[in-house]
Amino acid sequence: MFYQDLHNHTQWSDGDSTIEALINRAREYGLQEIGISDHYEFVDDKVVYREMLGSLKKKFQDIKVLIGTEIKIGTLLRVSHTDIDELNQYDYILIENLEYQSDIAEVLESLKDLSSKLTCKIGLAHLDLEQLGKLRGQVIEFMTQYNIFLDFNFEGTFYINLLQGYGQIEDVLHQGIEVVVGSDTHSIDMDWWTNMVAAHEYLLKARKLYNKEGLRET
Ligand SMILES: [Zn+2]
Repeated sequence: MFYQDLHNHTQWSDGDSTIEALINRAREYGLQEIGISDHYEFVDDKVVYREMLGSLKKKFQDIKVLIGTEIKIGTLLRVSHTDIDELNQYDYILIENLEYQSDIAEVLESLKDLSSKLTCKIGLAHLDLEQLGKLRGQVIEFMTQYNIFLDFNFEGTFYINLLQGYGQIEDVLHQGIEVVVGSDTHSIDMDWWTNMVAAHEYLLKARKLYNKEGLRET
């Protein structure tokens, strides 16, 4: 099994561990890929943050380290051209809170414009598809069109659904959208391994059921 986790917070934002401690914990568990996604709004010196991650990326051979950030949609919609260049320095960005916008359709339009300028990988953090209501189809279409991945975050709704055996990610996989597990870890003391395994197994099963053409395989 290829274990990856693209949603983690450290002392650089609202987490309480160092980046290195978090990476080492992931290595102990045998994760093959870890992305650090400290809150964009919290990180004061983004250059030093990325440099630090860049050196850790080189340091570890047994785990792939990705330089990420989690940004609120409101912040993203206010970014200037220089900020876009800055955002493109990350390996990926996680956008949060799309489902809580009052005019999602309008926000999607602005996002389309931004997405075409962003060269880094883009994901939607812990997106609650149920919350989107009638606009769910539109969001899924946008994700397909702009190659946006979904953060399968087992801290929130997804994990609750996972436990209930109800999968809302099937729709997403159906469209060939990339789904990546995120633990939303804020501390190395957080015990997430059981959930990590459950989320990966769930995804593996769901991926086997649906191929990229959107057909259910039998
Ligand atoms: Zn987060």
